Amino acid sequence: RKCLNRIKKTQHLNAYITVTEELALKQAQEAETRLLQGAPKGPLDGIPFAVKDNFCTENIKTTCSSKMLKDYTPPYNATVVQKLLDQGAVLMGKTNMDEFAMGSGSTDGAFGPVRNPWSYAASYIEQTGATPDSDWVITGGSSGGSAAAVASLTSYLALGSDTGGSTRNPAALCGVVALKPTYGLLSRHGLIPLVNSMDVPGIMTRSVSDAAIILGILQGLDTRDSTTVPAPSSPTELPQDFDIKNVRIGIPKEYHAPGLSEETLAQWSHVADMFEKAGAHVEQVSLPHTQHSIVCYHVLCHAEVASNMARFDGLEYGHRSKVDSSTESMYASTRHEGFNDVVRGRILSGNYFLLQQNYEHYFVKAQKVRRLIAEDFKHVFSSGIDVLLTPSTLTDAARYTDFSQEDNRTRSAQEDVFTQPVNMAGLPAVSVPTALSRRGLPIGLQLIGPAFQDRKLLSVAQWIE
Ligand code: GLN
Repeated sequence: RKCLNRIKKTQHLNAYITVTEELALKQAQEAETRLLQGAPKGPLDGIPFAVKDNFCTENIKTTCSSKMLKDYTPPYNATVVQKLLDQGAVLMGKTNMDEFAMGSGSTDGAFGPVRNPWSYAASYIEQTGATPDSDWVITGGSSGGSAAAVASLTSYLALGSDTGGSTRNPAALCGVVALKPTYGLLSRHGLIPLVNSMDVPGIMTRSVSDAAIILGILQGLDTRDSTTVPAPSSPTELPQDFDIKNVRIGIPKEYHAPGLSEETLAQWSHVADMFEKAGAHVEQVSLPHTQHSIVCYHVLCHAEVASNMARFDGLEYGHRSKVDSSTESMYASTRHEGFNDVVRGRILSGNYFLLQQNYEHYFVKAQKVRRLIAEDFKHVFSSGIDVLLTPSTLTDAARYTDFSQEDNRTRSAQEDVFTQPVNMAGLPAVSVPTALSRRGLPIGLQLIGPAFQDRKLLSVAQWIE
C-alpha cells in the first residue's frame, strides 16, 4: 500500500503506463497470509516489483509505448516475469519507455516522456536554482520508467531490457544499480524483441546485493528460448569476504570519448585510484575497435528491427487502420499510424542495409566489425584482466528541453558509446551509482566482465558501492 501511495504521489514522473493496483493488493494479501503462516514462497515473497512495458504480462496491457500495441493484452507472462511471480513478488505495474525500446532518453514513447525523480531533489534544486516544472531532467532510456520506479521508491526492483545500454543508461542517470547479464543467462521469452542477437532482460535494483539475488532467481535454461544456457552451479549471493587485492582492473583508453564530461572523467579516475589504494592492480588497456561500435551497432540494430517489426501488419497484433481499400494499403496505413518516426526511420534504413545490393557492404561488414569488437574484449580478458572500469554515460542527466531540442537521434545514438560494445560482445556489465555531480544529479560507473562471470563482476561492484 505504501508503494501504491507513492505511485499516486509521483504520478508527475510518468514512470508507469499501467498500474496494476487491484492485482498488487491481492498478491500482497496472499503473500501476507503466507508470511504470517511462516511459509514464504521465497526471498521475494511480498516484494513489490515493476516491469518495463515490453515484457509480456498475462491479461495486462503490454504496449511497448507504441500506438501500435496500445490495446494489446498478451495471453501469457514472459519467463522472467513468471519467475518473479512464482517467488511471490508483487507486480505494481508496467513502466514507461521509448517506443519499442528505441532511444536513450525515455522521451520518445507514445505516452509522453518520463521525468527523472532527481529533478525534484533538494540537491538539484539548490545547486542549480531549477524550477522542476520547467527544468526537469530526463531519466535516460529506454528503460526510464523502470529506473524512475526504483529511484522514487515505488518498487524495490524493476525489469528493464538492454540491447545497447537501455538499463545501464537510465540506472546511471537515476542513481540506481543495473545489471545487464551475460547474453543467454536470462530468458528472452516474452520480451518483445528489438535486436534478438543483443537483447537481454536487465535487472534494476537499489543495491548490488539485491541485483545478485534477482540474478539467482531469473537465470537459467528456458526451453522457450533456444539461446539460454543452464545457470552456473555457484551460488549468486555475493561472498562476504571478497578481497579486492590483486584483482586486475582494466581502463580502456579508447573510452576517453568525445563528449565525456570533466566531472564524469574525474569520478572515473577517482574510483580507479580507490581501487589502486585498496591493492587492486589498475592498468590501461586497449579496445581498438571501439570507435566503430556506434555505426556497427546501428547497422545491425536497424536490420534486425526491420525484420522484427514486420510482424506488426494490422492482422495479428494491435492496431489496425480503417483504411482498407486493399490489403497493401491496410498494411501501410497501419504501420504509418501505429509507429512513431524513430521506429519508421529504423525500418527504412534497416531494409536499405538488407537490400541485395547493400547486404555485403553494410550488414555483412557490420557483422565482421562486431566480431572484431568482441575479440577486443576477449583479448583483454585473456591477458588476465578481471574487469574493466568505464563510465556508464557521457554526462549526468540532460534537461528535457535541451535533450529534445538538439538533434535527439544523434545525441541519443552517441549516448551509448560505453554500453553498446558490451551488447555486441554478449558480456555482463553493471552500472553502479558512485557520486552526485555539481548539479546534484547522479553519476554512474560501469564494470564489464568476461562472459558468465556475472557474480565476480557484482562482487567488484559491491566493493565500489
Ligand atoms: N539507445 C539504443 C537504441 O536506441 C539502445 C536501446 C536499448 O538498449 N534498448 O537502440
